[in-house]
Amino acid sequence: MNTTKHYGPYGGQYVAETLMGPLNELAAAYLEAKKDPEFQREFTALLKDYVGRESPITVCNRLSAKLGGATIVLKREDLNHTGAHKVNNTIGQALLAKRMGKKRLIAETGAGMHGVATATVAALLGMPCEVYMGAIDVKRQSPNVERMKMLGATVHSIEEGSATLKDAMNEALRDWVTNCDDTFYVIGTAAGPYPYPEMVKDFQSVIGKEARRQCLEKFGRLPDQAIACVGGGSNAIGLFAGFMDDADVKLVGVEAAGKGIATGEHAASINGGRLGVLHGAKTMLLQTADGNVIDTYSVSAGLDYPGVGPEHCHLHDTGRAEYSSITDDEAIAAFDDLCRYEGIIPALESSHALAEAIKRAPSLPKDTILLVCLSGRGDKDLENILAYKKSRSTIQNI
Ligand SMILES: *Cc1c(COP(=O)(O)O)cnc(C)c1O
Repeated sequence: MNTTKHYGPYGGQYVAETLMGPLNELAAAYLEAKKDPEFQREFTALLKDYVGRESPITVCNRLSAKLGGATIVLKREDLNHTGAHKVNNTIGQALLAKRMGKKRLIAETGAGMHGVATATVAALLGMPCEVYMGAIDVKRQSPNVERMKMLGATVHSIEEGSATLKDAMNEALRDWVTNCDDTFYVIGTAAGPYPYPEMVKDFQSVIGKEARRQCLEKFGRLPDQAIACVGGGSNAIGLFAGFMDDADVKLVGVEAAGKGIATGEHAASINGGRLGVLHGAKTMLLQTADGNVIDTYSVSAGLDYPGVGPEHCHLHDTGRAEYSSITDDEAIAAFDDLCRYEGIIPALESSHALAEAIKRAPSLPKDTILLVCLSGRGDKDLENILAYKKSRSTIQNI
């Protein structure tokens, strides 16, 4: 196997023999598109005219002053059309699908955000779209199911296994094996078999490239740390991509510690998982002693991927990036802070990255710049947050 398909011991293509052909076809088409100025022009034009890029960077003046240390700066992916970074990737993959002559898009989704982002670009490009979603998630995330339907997509509710994201991924792969001639499988994070981790990183690297240029323009220098939350790792690898060669910029990924890593109820694959194979790649993942994939837990539904992109595992091993974790309580506190001090309602996922910056800021000098990827907006989370706060106040009143 070609060594570029791996990140250290991670990555690769651990799929059924029948999928090797489609994966090779995809990799060849992608490498060609990557070099084609016309493809890049089309991609960039949609990011500008449809998504509304570039997204600004925002200095958190009041929040930073309150913390009394480093300056926190946000990269505003929450201002994208559809309210998060995911659309950068689905536009790229859908354009590639069209270029390859594929007629139909399929996707897996957990919290439903990737399903919505795929349904969105399917409508934009006039392609039918079918989304696989675990039956439990369909129930938990009904507003996103309605959004997908509104956008014209078909949602398949999966009853198998634990009826969550990992079962939806298996179903999507099964569909792809059967229909690969006319079907493109849109993966929602920087994971899955090669070439997906590389492709998704490239499409999301617009985050880091823009932020790097914007920091140079605004501050005359690079940030000291670039911090992003890690579910499967696409917004983080997109941010990191802009600074990978800048050895002085610390890269920090933040996993969801849920109720605490020690409780076992979390979504921290690097900090709390073990090496295994998931979604066609070797990676760190949450599993039982005998290798069964465990469902994740986090107050933020979008950090629900039970594995993590293979490049993150490698960046962790080599020390180029560090990976911390933030609990539900810490993320909610950071969410409140950003609302009250900056007038920005962040996604709960992004609140994990923000919480890490809030932890670090007080002990750092004022001229230290902490660049945080605000991967999405929090309107989608309001109900969750209210329910969470209600349950906490009940516990505290006992
Ligand atoms: C899906 C999602 C994430 C997590 O996905 P990554 O691939 O790790 O980026 C983070 N933030 C938001 C707003 C999301 O919707």
